[in-house]
Amino acid sequence: MADEVELAQNAQAGDDTIFGKILRKEIPCNFIYEDNLCVAFDDISPQAPVHYLVIPRKPITQLSKSEDSDAELLGHLLIVAKKIAQKRNLKNGFRIVINDGPIGAQSVYHLHIHVLSGRQMQWPPG
Ligand code: AMP
Repeated sequence: MADEVELAQNAQAGDDTIFGKILRKEIPCNFIYEDNLCVAFDDISPQAPVHYLVIPRKPITQLSKSEDSDAELLGHLLIVAKKIAQKRNLKNGFRIVINDGPIGAQSVYHLHIHVLSGRQMQWPPG
């Protein structure tokens, strides 16, 4: 079993996550973008030449636990993901991924959008 999948299957939805610690600045992290609703930073284990994460400040554990009232926030995360892509000159495109739950191989239970680029993506994903 791939390490990532094993990690994801052992992950639990809990009160705190590594992203909570990053948001509270308990763990150093270089934000490539921040505003009052979200922050973005490069993934510590990049799966492509470009791989960054956009996360809400609000501790939503996963997309499937988001509420109708989160619609504007979720839209904002996508707009920020796109703006960073423009800033990084990802003219030929990028891939957005949101892993949800054990089947989706989610390992950190704080909602995050992966943005990957800089190489040709394949389909179907693993
Ligand atoms: P997921 O498997 O969708 O839950 O994605 C979690 C992602 O968070 C993985 O791609 C990890 O490499 C990434 N990650 C974990 N810890 C950190 C960290 N301290 N800084 C940046 N990225 C991290």
